[in-house]
Amino acid sequence: QFGSQLEQLRRQLSPSGDVVSPKGRELTQRVFGEPLLPSQVVQRICDAVQSEGQPALLRFSQQLDGAELAPGRLRLETSKLEEAHRAAAPEFLASIRRIRDNILAFQSSILHTNVTIRPSDGVRLDQRYVPLRRIGVCVPGGAAAYPSTVLMTVLPAQAAGVEQIAVVAPPTQFGAYNPDVLATCYELGVREVYPVGGAQAVAAMAYGVEGLPAVDKIVGPGNLFVALAKKRVYGEVDIDSIAGPSEVVIVADDSTHPAYTAADMLAQAEHSPGASLLVTWDPQFIDRVQSELELQLAQLSRSALTHDSLNAFGAFILVRDADQACEVTDLIAPEHLHIACRHPRKLAEKIRNAGATFLGPFSPVALGDYAAGPSHVLPTGGTARWAAGLSANAFLRSSSIIEYSQAALEDIAGDISNLATKEGLTAHRRSVEIRTHSPAAAEH
Ligand code: NAD
Repeated sequence: QFGSQLEQLRRQLSPSGDVVSPKGRELTQRVFGEPLLPSQVVQRICDAVQSEGQPALLRFSQQLDGAELAPGRLRLETSKLEEAHRAAAPEFLASIRRIRDNILAFQSSILHTNVTIRPSDGVRLDQRYVPLRRIGVCVPGGAAAYPSTVLMTVLPAQAAGVEQIAVVAPPTQFGAYNPDVLATCYELGVREVYPVGGAQAVAAMAYGVEGLPAVDKIVGPGNLFVALAKKRVYGEVDIDSIAGPSEVVIVADDSTHPAYTAADMLAQAEHSPGASLLVTWDPQFIDRVQSELELQLAQLSRSALTHDSLNAFGAFILVRDADQACEVTDLIAPEHLHIACRHPRKLAEKIRNAGATFLGPFSPVALGDYAAGPSHVLPTGGTARWAAGLSANAFLRSSSIIEYSQAALEDIAGDISNLATKEGLTAHRRSVEIRTHSPAAAEH
């Protein structure tokens, strides 16, 4: 029964689900003249931007975001970024710098390094890692401003050595015109900021339009339209993931204060929607968390939204014991996992599927959201079964190098011939034999 409830929850939250608000449907009807599904909207937008270029991008920015962008140069003037930086509060910039140092320290130390092996005489094999040349970052800006997204996407890319970083954000006060977002970009050395958002911005970065050259990979979170557009352009460019709404599983017992657990559930619900699931084997702990939730909800600024989100996507899951908590968590494969019970590290070792894990009573998810170092762009909707969070390594491409001497090639030539003959690829076989058994080979 739990499995089917979970499936239902996933479907409701799925970014590939064609679910959109009545306001969104109205907008679609107005712009496209018919009631299209979000996936159809995204298809129309991507196709138009690919075939028409900048005019389509400007048209959708006008129709969907009410922005009158001038044709030609799309990029914000660097002076705008500089201005925002100059006007930023010193404490804000000091926090940005401290967090930048944390993120760079972590991301640089997990980078893949080149590998060389010499398995036998005359054979050298290398795995080489090179940074991508140019990437694009989606910074959301429809409903709230997210300077933290700039930090959590741009810095891993910089740690990997990416040279060109383009940031797109909707042409709104929460997006590309947000002083905190702009000051953060400037502080990190980002000079390419484009005031475009939604599916049209993703398509522009994938296909390239006048004033916004194409990128090799698109990363960063966004709403349903951004997620569906990333899915659509994948193959033309790489993407990080298809991110859905945020979620947390908290495995806790009475070794942590119920006020902490309630605060963590509310923090996730505040994303609205955000799924907050408490897994515990202690029924009394559930009662205590429940009372704390009621107390704390009343004090929040987004109280009504958070309440609705918790009502729809919150749950207490009572399990038999710690082992069953691990099984249930693995089944959910949550984006965030907070283990706040006795011996949390021991439990963490038993759980295979989680985007990021937070251990102990003093490691709330907000640490990962803002400051610790690992990126907060994490796999959602159960995709932590097979996907990883964004990291500096996502901006590296590996390539292999193979080098054999003639003697080493002679050694393996028979095996290659056997397989090439089986597959009927005689030219392949010959390309080896000409180097090992031919007059040309004898001359060498
Ligand atoms: P957004 O900035 O991703 O997208 C807004 C754009 O969507 C608009 O500019 C518009 O062009 C387009 N759009 C809106 N309605 C449309 C419609 N009906 N038809 C076509 N296009 C339409 O939006 P947002 O609201 O800020 O959402 C951002 C999401 O990202 C939130 O769910 C937030 O929780 C999430 N987020 C996640 C992380 C993370 O790391 N996991 C971080 C920050 C934000």
